[in-house]
Amino acid sequence: MTMTAATECMTMILPDEQATQKAARLLAQHIPGGIVYLNGDLGAGKTTLTRYWLQALGHQGTVKSPTYTLVEPYTVQGKPVYHFDLYRLNDPYELELMGIRDYTLDATALLLIEWPEKGQPVLAAADIELTFKVDAAQQRELQVSTSMHPEMIQALKVAWHG
Ligand code: ADP
Ligand code: MG
Repeated sequence: MTMTAATECMTMILPDEQATQKAARLLAQHIPGGIVYLNGDLGAGKTTLTRYWLQALGHQGTVKSPTYTLVEPYTVQGKPVYHFDLYRLNDPYELELMGIRDYTLDATALLLIEWPEKGQPVLAAADIELTFKVDAAQQRELQVSTSMHPEMIQALKVAWHG
């Protein structure tokens, strides 16, 4: 019998960029590595959160949106971080040509991936999914979900609300 782990999730309300910065700092503290999907429409805040996340890890330079390059690599605190934006990916199989397998097989690496749906079915499954939403009143929220690391959600809830 196969067991499917329940998906744990939590929601962070992001009324301003300061809240997004706090969210990024907590995510940086609780997610050492792995594959993180950043879901959400254009302008929802995916790149902004990534920028704060890299800064929280100690990155001091600029963080360019990898819209045309598809991926921007960083090394922070000796750890590889890859920021992907797959919006302009024409064919998911281009990911194989980019050597996506080498990125995803590096257990120490953190992969932050915007527009992951463009990479299916080649892209590996997410360890953690972040879903950004903006409602009609410009109210922003971020949902964090994972079935791989339920204990992380509990820790994040305590850190966010505490
Ligand atoms: P995406 O990468 O999802 O397309 P961006 O991060 O590039 O989105 O753009 C988000 C825009 O929304 C930025 O111009 C940012 O300044 C603005 N913004 C306003 N409020 C917030 C917030 N609470 N969190 C993140 N971005 C915000
Ligand atoms: Mg973006």
